[in-house]
Amino acid sequence: MPPKSKAAAKRPASQALRKKGNVKNAAVSAKKLRELEQVRKVKEPFLDMFVEALTKGDPDPSELAWHLSWRCSNPRRYDAPAACSLMLFSEALPGHVNLCDVLEAIDYHQAIRKHIGDERWEERRVRADELLQKLQGAKVSPRSFSLLHRAVSVACAKKDGPSEELKALSSATSKAVCDKDPEGACPICLAGWRADDSVLVLSCNHVLHVDCFWKMITAAGSDALRGRCRVCRAPVHWGPVARSNLRCILASALAAALVRQQQAGGGLSQSDVAEYCSRVSEEIGESFHDIWTEVPYQLLKVRQKALPNSEMANLQRLFSTPFLR
Ligand SMILES: [Zn+2]
Ligand SMILES: [Zn+2]
Repeated sequence: MPPKSKAAAKRPASQALRKKGNVKNAAVSAKKLRELEQVRKVKEPFLDMFVEALTKGDPDPSELAWHLSWRCSNPRRYDAPAACSLMLFSEALPGHVNLCDVLEAIDYHQAIRKHIGDERWEERRVRADELLQKLQGAKVSPRSFSLLHRAVSVACAKKDGPSEELKALSSATSKAVCDKDPEGACPICLAGWRADDSVLVLSCNHVLHVDCFWKMITAAGSDALRGRCRVCRAPVHWGPVARSNLRCILASALAAALVRQQQAGGGLSQSDVAEYCSRVSEEIGESFHDIWTEVPYQLLKVRQKALPNSEMANLQRLFSTPFLR
């Protein structure tokens, strides 16, 4: 064994350890880079096909959905997260996509996340910013952007939500709306469109603010038009992914309204709450039961300190028994 150099002999143990650590870190990051490159290679062809189908309708969206669907049915496949996350975006594709395939994708994405864990799902799924980068300069309808916007929080595994991706898709949707109809306005509040609006584009292509959608649901007296566009009266269709997102945001708005009402000393009966759940159900075409069971979950997310624990428990109790209509 060669004798240690004077410098090495003088080097403190911590420094030698740090050097060893650096070498290990460099090896880990090289491995990570190789993995990320492999993930990119897997995502790229799927993303390209999706963008072609979204912007040109070729490949045919239903064929693409089939192509993606069987890949996400096996959680052990390396490409399953990329295929599955694009399936969750597939409601935005033009024309007809089999909604059973989309419904299955919601279950598959849970199975894949369970199999590989949230961290790997986040690495391997297609992110909204990757999709938006490919869509730069392409002609995409405001409705498609709006549906991508609805889908992204369903695809994201992070507990605090995909805020950057949501913001990017929200801006892309409002920009598409402003570009298409610069003189247009929200039919509910009559305010002209602005680039920072958060909007919903209905299946008839009429647009309204997300907040105004909630106001419309809470407004009394428009029961005959529930589930229809208030401008052209056409029935409004949402796919399973968009419905799942709308169920969460509307149940969350309802939970916040319940807490505010309780703070103001307002009494609440089970039938009052059921009335709102029923309106949400009719408005978005989701089952009453699914909305009813979502509200207590959203109540848990409302900061506990908004109400004393005892009152929060009272609110929770409202939902502890099924409401029989
Ligand atoms: Zn509005
Ligand atoms: Zn309409």
